[in-house]
Formats: sequence, C-alpha cells, structure tokens
Amino acid sequence: MAETKRKKTIIANWKMNFTMHEASIFLHKLSDKVKAKRGVEVVLAPSIFTLQSLSLQVKKRQFKLAAQNFYWRDFGAFTGEVSIAQLKGIVDYGMVGHSERRHIFGEQDKDLRDKVAAALRSGIQPILCIGETANEREFGETGDVIYDQLVGGLTQVTSEDMKNVLIAYEPVWAISTTQNAKPCTPEDAEKAVEMIREHIRHLYGKKAGDEVRVLFGGSVDGDNAAGYLGVKGVDGALVGGASLKVDAFNSVVEKANALVS
Ligand code: PEP
Repeated sequence: MAETKRKKTIIANWKMNFTMHEASIFLHKLSDKVKAKRGVEVVLAPSIFTLQSLSLQVKKRQFKLAAQNFYWRDFGAFTGEVSIAQLKGIVDYGMVGHSERRHIFGEQDKDLRDKVAAALRSGIQPILCIGETANEREFGETGDVIYDQLVGGLTQVTSEDMKNVLIAYEPVWAISTTQNAKPCTPEDAEKAVEMIREHIRHLYGKKAGDEVRVLFGGSVDGDNAAGYLGVKGVDGALVGGASLKVDAFNSVVEKANALVS
C-alpha cells in the first residue's frame, strides 16, 4: 500500500459547540488560515442547525461538510429529527455511531446499520465510528468489539457500496472528553486499523479491505497528528477538541499536507 499517495481526510467534529454567529466567524477565520494541499480533504462537522448557513458561506474546494448525526428514515412523522435525505446537497459525509451517540444516547447497531444504509441511499458517504471502551480494552475485547461494531453497522452494505463507506477508529478511552482519557499510541492505532482492514477483507474481499478509508480519532492535535497520520493504513483523522481552535486544527491539516507532498 503506497501510504503517501493516499488521500488524507481531516474531519473537524465541532460537537455541540458554537452558536450560529460564532460558527460563521470561526469558519471565516479557518478559511483565511487553512490551505490544504491537493490530496488532503478537510471536512467540517458543525451542529446540524448551522449546516445550511455554513453551506452558503463555505468554499466547496476548501471545505466539505458532514452531519454529526441524522435519522435514518427519509421523511415523515418523526418529530424533532433531521434525515440525511434532507441534508442532500449540503453535506458530503454523515457520521454514524460516534461514541457519544452510542454511550450517551444509547444508539445500537440496529439503529446504526439503518443510518449507514440511509446515507448511501442519499448518495452521502457514511463515516462509521467504532471503538472499544477502557473496560473492554482491559478485558482484551478490542478485536471482538471492532468486529461486532463493523458487522453491526455494515449489515446492509454491499461490496459495491463499501467503496463509499469510511471507518473511523476512535478508542473511547482516548477521546479527550472521556474521564481519565489516555493517549492511544500510534502502535496501538496501527494494530487496530490493521484489524479493521482484515475484517473488511474477510467480509468484502482483499481489495475492499486494502482500499477502505480508515481514520483515527482520539485527542489528535497539532503535536501528535504527524505520528497518527504517518501510521500505515491511517487515511486521516477525526478531530474533536483541537478542531475548536483555529491554530491547532490548522496544524493538524499542515501535518497531513506534509505527508502528501
Ligand atoms: C471525537 O470525539 O470524535 C474526538 C476524536 O474528540 P477528541 O479529538 O477531543 O478526542
């Protein structure tokens, strides 16, 4: 696998931060600063209510947009929900199964596989987030959790559709907002990412496993990004806390730029 030739995708997960006004100002500052090279794709995942206004402000060649979450039905009587079909034309990506969705909002594989299918149906690339908790890791269950979450989320995905699915490996214990978060070493990230590719090879064949785009997330910032982005098999980063600071996020993008030059 020629690592340096693969596109790097850097995603800013703003979570439930910024008012509409703050998001617009932040995007303005990012636009002035972030200069991604060809081969580096920068994706912003703001709160769902700011997506539409930011989509009018954003330069499409500079930033793509992603939904942090969405409902799997396309339209109908689902009070308070937003479907991925409603976001068509606004987002290129839809995050599915972020650990906060799984652990705070109780989302299960049965919800997530429907979301993955809904995104694909709307022509939007799902980013399936997977990763074990600290407890699961301590009990040596990392490989099984990864397998179960992959199978659970991909149940309705055909080999043809697999080309449009991204996987984000985010060990829950390394996410900055997790209590007692610990850094994941690039070596541990590499092992997990290889496990993911091996499972995809097993489920969809060698080509799919080699080509699936796999991102790493877990306290990535400007200081450690080069280490993670240089890991064999890692195609980018999902960035939470550091994506809320212009310089820190720009520094992650610059580390990706350095790898594709
Ligand atoms: C995340 O929650 O997706 C994440 C990776 O957050 P952080 O970078 O803050 O650990």
